[in-house]
Amino acid sequence: MNQKTLILIIEDEQSIANSISSILNSHGYKTMTCGTGKEGLTMAASHCPAAILLDLGLPDMDGNTVITTLRQWSDIPIIVISARIQEEDKVDALDYGADDYITKPFTTGELMARIRTALRHTIHAGNMKVFRSGELSIDFERHQVKVGEEDIHLTQIEYKIVALLAKNAGKVMTYDRIIKEIWGPYADNNNRILRVNMVNIRRKLEKNPAEPQYIYTEIGVGYRMSDEEPENTDGQKE
Ligand code: CA
Repeated sequence: MNQKTLILIIEDEQSIANSISSILNSHGYKTMTCGTGKEGLTMAASHCPAAILLDLGLPDMDGNTVITTLRQWSDIPIIVISARIQEEDKVDALDYGADDYITKPFTTGELMARIRTALRHTIHAGNMKVFRSGELSIDFERHQVKVGEEDIHLTQIEYKIVALLAKNAGKVMTYDRIIKEIWGPYADNNNRILRVNMVNIRRKLEKNPAEPQYIYTEIGVGYRMSDEEPENTDGQKE
C-alpha cells in the first residue's frame, strides 16, 4: 500500500482512542481521532476515511444520530464500539445503518477482523459469484449450495437467508434487517419464523447444529456468517 488506508476513530475516552489508534497504526493503517460527534461528522466529510469506528456514548451527540446523519450522504463502513450495558443501543445502531459492532473490552484480533470485513465489503459488495467458507460453497448464479461435494437442498426462503448472510459474511445481520430483506418491509418483526428457518438451515448445513461452524448466533442481535477462508486455497492471507 502506498496510500495508507485511513480509519477515523470517534471516541471520547482518550485511552481507548489511543490504544485503538496504535493497534491500527501497527497494522499499517493511518488513523485520525476525535472525541465528539460533531467533530466526527466534519472529519468524515473532509477526509473521506475508508471506515469509521464510532463510540455510541459521546458527550455531545447520541451515536445513533451520528450514524443517521452520516448515512444521509455516505456509505462509509461504520463499526460501533459499544459497552456491554449498551445492548439495545447496539441493535438500534445496526438498524440505523452501522455495519458492525465490537464490544469493549475487545482483543486486537477481533478489532482487526472487524476492520478487514468492513473494508472488504466496500470492495466486493455486489459482484461476488461464488461464496466459500470452509467446506460450504454457494453459487449465486445457479442458486446452488454445497457442503463439500454434497448438494444441499434448501427451500426458497432458506436459500434467501443463507445467500443474504453469505453476501454479508463476517458481518452481523440483525434479526430485523434479515426479516425485512426476506419478507419485506411490512413483515411482522417477530423473529419466530426466522428462528424456525434457521433451525432447518443448520440441520442441513452444519455437522453439529448445536455448535454451528458456518452461521453463528449473536445473542439478542442476529446472525453472522463465518468468512473463514477454505483451508485448501493457496490465496495469500494477511
Ligand atoms: Ca464514550
